[in-house]
Parts: sequence; structure tokens; C-alpha cells
Amino acid sequence: MVAELIDGKAISQQIVHEVRTELDVVRQKVPTFTPCLAIVQVGDRKDSEVYIRNKAKLAEDIGVEVKVIKLPRSTTQQQLEDTIDQLNADDAVDGIIIQLPADSEHPIETHHVIDKISHAKDVDGLTRENAGRLARGELDHAILPCTPYGCLLLVKNVLGDYSKIAGKRVVVIGRSKIVGLPASALFLWHNATVTTCHSKTANLKEQCLQADILIVAIGSSKFVKGDWIKPGAIVIDCGINVDVTPEGKRVLTGDVDFAQAKEVASHITPVPGGVGPMTVAMLLHNTFTQGVARRVEGFISE
Ligand code: NDP
Repeated sequence: MVAELIDGKAISQQIVHEVRTELDVVRQKVPTFTPCLAIVQVGDRKDSEVYIRNKAKLAEDIGVEVKVIKLPRSTTQQQLEDTIDQLNADDAVDGIIIQLPADSEHPIETHHVIDKISHAKDVDGLTRENAGRLARGELDHAILPCTPYGCLLLVKNVLGDYSKIAGKRVVVIGRSKIVGLPASALFLWHNATVTTCHSKTANLKEQCLQADILIVAIGSSKFVKGDWIKPGAIVIDCGINVDVTPEGKRVLTGDVDFAQAKEVASHITPVPGGVGPMTVAMLLHNTFTQGVARRVEGFISE
């Protein structure tokens, strides 16, 4: 069997197209409405700048405004929190994210700062409030974290319908607050039977072999081998790693050994071009949705 590729690029473009179309409809009612995403960057890490540029470019294509608030490396936790407070109070801002990691000379308690973000503007879905709602299955009242939300949509695209997730065995490797843990919750509340694995899990290979849907978010190049995968499984690889080939060329790889896995799985995401583009699309989707909920629906009902 050779797996079918799950084309995250094409699926994300479809989401982007839907957001742009919905924005046009909203603008017919409220012509001045422009959703606005604030990205707070501390320091000047080159990789952060690439990620921010990618987000800003797609946002511009859709018609979402991006405000980048670039703070120096001398920024303290208090100054960062003050910046978040100002953005919370700014009525023109619909979504706030902190580009991680915060590259400061001072110790920054990242999760404490994230928690300062108003939960209605938490378009990364990382505050305790949103994480708690997701954990409780209050999906209609939670802003869903972008990468897990992207994974869910990729699986839906394969199966055709959310309802087909019910009863499936999902194995998630990774329990980070950004990817693994919310991915487990999201599939659980779509009625899958979920096993969450991590660095202390015993018999990881045997766990993976149970999975109808395997979601991998470890951060270790080609870690999951072909013989860990149940024949016919759907494989979603969140990993982004940089390998250097024997010729000295830098290549992006996932956490799954793609060449092996594609011989066993029924569907698999490539890296790049799988989960990555979905993450940015979901961020802009969340920004648009929150902007409409707060400013447009509020505006119309007034
Ligand atoms: P973290 O480092 O925060 O978490 C990694 C998780 O993997 C931890 O839960 C850890 O377990 C687990 N883990 C590490 N090693 C092993 C192992 N040998 N066996 C089993 N579990 C293991 O990473 P993130 O969740 O932030 O990111 C994971 C990957 O996803 C990275 O490659 C990252 O670049 C990528 N990523 C991609 C995004 C995208 O848009 N495509 C967005 C965000 C991340 P434990 O908890 O026990 O330490």
C-alpha cells in the first residue's frame, strides 16, 4: 500500500478562501470591519521573524490586519504583561499572540504572560480559560489551539465528516500545552478513544500499532518508524525538524519516517506541506471569528 498524501497546503488554502469569502459578506454589512491580529515579539530571533512574516503575508492576502509589537531583549516580565494589558484594552485588536519563545535577557514566565491575554482575544487558544473549556469538552465556548485544530480538520478531510471520528482509536505522541494535550482533548470530544503518550510511556511502538489515527508531536526527526504504524492508519505528523544531508543541505523533516510510513499508512501528511500551513490558516480563522463575535455581532445587535 502507498499512502495518499494529505495536502495541508491545499486544505489550508480552502480555509483561507472561506475566511476571505465570509469577510466579504461581513463587510457588506459593516464596511469598516477589518479583523486585527497583534503579534508580540520579544527579541529578534531569526526563526521567529520568519514565522511572523509567514503569518503576516497570509493575513494580508485575506484582509486581516497584523500589528507586530516588537519589544527589545531587555523587556521584563512586567513590561510584557503591560503590553498585553494595553492590547486587551484596545478595541481595534481582535486577537493577541505571543511569538514563542520570548527572547528576553530576563526570566519570563511564559504561561503567566499568556494567561494575561483576554480569553476572547486568545486566538492561539493557550490561556488556562480556553484550555480548561477544551478539556471539559465545551468546544462551542473555547478558542481551539491552531495546530490541533488544523490536525482535526486534516482528519475530517480524509474521513469526510467529524462524526466518522467517533469510535476510532487515536494515539497522540506528545503532551505539550500547544500541540499534544489539546490534540488529545479535541479528538476525545469528537468521540474517539484517545491514548496520550509521552517520553515515559512504556511500549510506545505497541501503543502506536493500536492507532487508527496517529498524531505525532515530539520534535525528534523521523522518530516513528514504518513498523510502528497499523496498516491503513491515518498519520498526522506535526514535527518540524531540520536535518542536514550528507551533502550539507538543510532539509525539513517530520517526527515520522515518511519514506517508511507511507508504505503502511492509508493517508499521511508530508513535512513540509502538511500540518504547518494549517496552523497559520487556523490562526487567521480564529482571529476573524473572534473579531466577528466581538465587534460585528455586537455592533449589529446594538
Ligand atoms: P514539546 O517539546 O513542548 O513537547 C514534546 C512532547 O513530546 C513532550 O510531551 C515529550 O514528552 C514528548 N516526547 C519527547 N521525546 C519523546 C520520546 N522519545 N518518546 C515519546 N514522547 C516524547 O514540543 P511541541 O509539542 O511544542 O512540538 C512538537 C513538534 O511539533 C516539534 O517538532 C515542533 O516543531 C512541532 N510544532 C509544529 C507546529 C506546526 O505548526 N506544524 C506548531 C507547534 C509545534 P514529556 O512531556 O514526557 O517530556
